[in-house]
Amino acid sequence: MAAVALDIANDHSTARKPAADGARALAAGRSSLLGLTRAGLRDALVAIGVPERELKMRVTQLWHWIYSRGVTEFDAMTNIAKGLRTQLSAYYTLARPEVVTEQVSSDGTRKWLMRMAPTGPHDRGAEIECVYIPEVDRGTLCVSSQVGCTLNCTFCHTGTQRLVRNLTVAEIVAQVIVARDRLGDWPEAVPPAEGFVPTDGGRYVSNIVLMGMGEPLYNFDNVRDAMDVVSDGEGLSIGRRRITLSTSGVVPMIERAGDEIGSMLAISLHAVRDDLRNQLVPLNKKYPIAQLLDACRAYPGLSNAKRITFEYVMLKGVNDTPADARELVRLLKGIPAKINLIPFNPWPGTSYECSDWESIERFSDIVFRAGYASPVRTPRGRDILAACGQLKSETEKMRARARLMLEGEAAGRNLEENPAA
Ligand code: SAH
Ligand code: SF4
Repeated sequence: MAAVALDIANDHSTARKPAADGARALAAGRSSLLGLTRAGLRDALVAIGVPERELKMRVTQLWHWIYSRGVTEFDAMTNIAKGLRTQLSAYYTLARPEVVTEQVSSDGTRKWLMRMAPTGPHDRGAEIECVYIPEVDRGTLCVSSQVGCTLNCTFCHTGTQRLVRNLTVAEIVAQVIVARDRLGDWPEAVPPAEGFVPTDGGRYVSNIVLMGMGEPLYNFDNVRDAMDVVSDGEGLSIGRRRITLSTSGVVPMIERAGDEIGSMLAISLHAVRDDLRNQLVPLNKKYPIAQLLDACRAYPGLSNAKRITFEYVMLKGVNDTPADARELVRLLKGIPAKINLIPFNPWPGTSYECSDWESIERFSDIVFRAGYASPVRTPRGRDILAACGQLKSETEKMRARARLMLEGEAAGRNLEENPAA
């Protein structure tokens, strides 16, 4: 790295010399520019000494190549002078998160396990799952906002994962880019032979749901900045009306989500009484149903054209009676809403079961007669455990166990004495 720095110093005027701080940081290794905001790209250019007067133009160029064209090498950026391209590749990469596994369901759904770049010497890279659901007229990418989730909803597999951290802006955006890479969803790229993609002439990744791992409103700033990048019309171009943020009900952040993210909103309701919702979605103890619905009524931009989706997971013998359905309709009165009934997706170790089909039909009839259309969500990708609430990175779990084992050994204990590990 030192030799490269020397070359650059020789090649360019002193204005191009990296600032001392920047050079020290950069010397630690090349980082990826993938997923950065415009401000992030600008900082990266400043750090390698690109003069102030060029910054705006250079950011626009990088933005175009990275987010509109999906290039993977600086050398493909033909309108950027060769010298700067060389300099960029000396300090940065356009590396994507590694795709550890790709599974394709019999219904065309794809699930990727992605490993993020390590954040330090002791990190082997966080792993998250990301799911692609193709339909004829759209392709929806289910994006994760955190590694794991701290909220422990009792019916959700993700909530049982021990290791939790927020994903960075770049890591959230990178999921969309990896999906476009794998699906051939860039100009001049071709779709994969197996599986299928939408045939309506639109982009293969046309919609985003923040319904992967994590609670997006617990990682607010990063999710907001990532959605700014993703929805930018000069780049990835997935409009805010095609982005749905799903929350378990972080009431104080809902208004800001409307103002600053401006996406469609989905609420994981799942119960119509506080005592039951306290069990299913423990966050309800902090923000009970009445408060949550007040926040929904006040959601900025709410209208009949921009309705809130209420998600309701159908759990056998728990929340699936006709009385529950009638109460649901009563509670939502006056809120421009859609209702999405989600058949419970089982996972290893859960004690919940999915409601039987008659109960789901009875429930859905009541909801339908109250004026809500086609509310049952067809489970997709069940054969590859890609459906809602089933995402959990197994390798991450094993790694946590290995780490705890090492710590246990270091402390002179063995794992048998510490079965929780
Ligand atoms: N944390 C956010 C977003 C991720 S979960 C939230 O809770 O809204 C996305 C959706 O899947 C939520 O509605 C969630 O309640 C639901 N879900 C979780 N586990 C599920 C399961 N096992 N079967 C069906 N839906 C589930
Ligand atoms: Fe977290 Fe959502 Fe799962 Fe609840 S349902 S544990 S909030 S990911």
